Amino acid sequence: MNTIKTIGYAAYSRGAALSPYVFERRALRDNDVAMEVLYSGVCHSDLHTVRDDWGWSYYPIVPGHEIIGKVIGVGSKVTKYKIGDHVGVGCLVDSCMECDQCHRDEEQLCRNQPTYSYSGFDRITNEPTQGGYSKHLVVREEFCLRIPEKLDLSKAAPLLCAGITTYSPLWTWNVGPGSRVGVIGLGGLGHMAVKLASALGAEVTVISRTAAKVADALDLGADKVLISSNEKEMLNAANSFDLIIDTIPAKHGLDPYLPLLDIDGTLVIVGQVGPMDEISTFPLLLGRRRIASSPIGGIRETQEMLDFCAKKGIVPECEMIRMDQINEAFERMEQADVRYRFVIDMASLNYK
Ligand SMILES: [Zn+2]
Ligand SMILES: [Zn+2]
Repeated sequence: MNTIKTIGYAAYSRGAALSPYVFERRALRDNDVAMEVLYSGVCHSDLHTVRDDWGWSYYPIVPGHEIIGKVIGVGSKVTKYKIGDHVGVGCLVDSCMECDQCHRDEEQLCRNQPTYSYSGFDRITNEPTQGGYSKHLVVREEFCLRIPEKLDLSKAAPLLCAGITTYSPLWTWNVGPGSRVGVIGLGGLGHMAVKLASALGAEVTVISRTAAKVADALDLGADKVLISSNEKEMLNAANSFDLIIDTIPAKHGLDPYLPLLDIDGTLVIVGQVGPMDEISTFPLLLGRRRIASSPIGGIRETQEMLDFCAKKGIVPECEMIRMDQINEAFERMEQADVRYRFVIDMASLNYK
């Protein structure tokens, strides 16, 4: 298969609105899978990258790392996938495959830095990678996920970042029946944390600043809602969590939350926030509590998560948009005005 001419939506410069961009996907290598992209989820990282908030963007850049596609071509050595299969691609498109972390199926922690779906560089040609806000994608077989038949394709995309980002810490910290899990923030990540922790049998509490999301939280499967602006409620909830998943996407303080952890409890930050407010060691030391962080998950774990969601009937709450609504969607996402993840119907993107 020769190079594929494709169209995407790119930012042409730092912070620019996204607009159509015609480019080429590479000719298939032996171990490559080519897909037509059907759906693409909209993650906060996409917007951070458009604005170069993390200092590693290039332009033009096509964001998108929650990708659902249909296979349209395979390289000669591909064995796992065939034309017509439904596949997913998340934040990773390659890694060294040789280091201890890659051998442990933790490609997201590759010692030689994994290659990201966008804001990365191809390991062979060094060309910049371009993400899923595009009609076609070419990825090596090992970094494709199989989308189980039972999963609704139009809603599965956010599992590939928001889903695995919250599933991985739940597994790392052994959440199961009897676990007491708190979830701070009820957005794209938070709502998945609630659904997944609940499906794993945990007792789930949403920790929210206001009472505005109580009904939603309970609908999504939370057992309780703790209002963090209510000092009395917060005091009463001291020492009552084994694990807290912190999904707040902006700079914030942890001091109000740390006393909520029981002895040896862990608060895991899953957003890429950067500098945080100052913290006090008092609640950490006195309760042998921990602050941790966790990035996405490896490919094997991501496949397990997809299979788990299919088995349990878990899908993200999605709002479908057209490709040309992306700039408006970015604005709304910033205002947290989405329940709970935008998904782009890529059929809405065509050559003019
Ligand atoms: Zn993401
Ligand atoms: Zn590696």
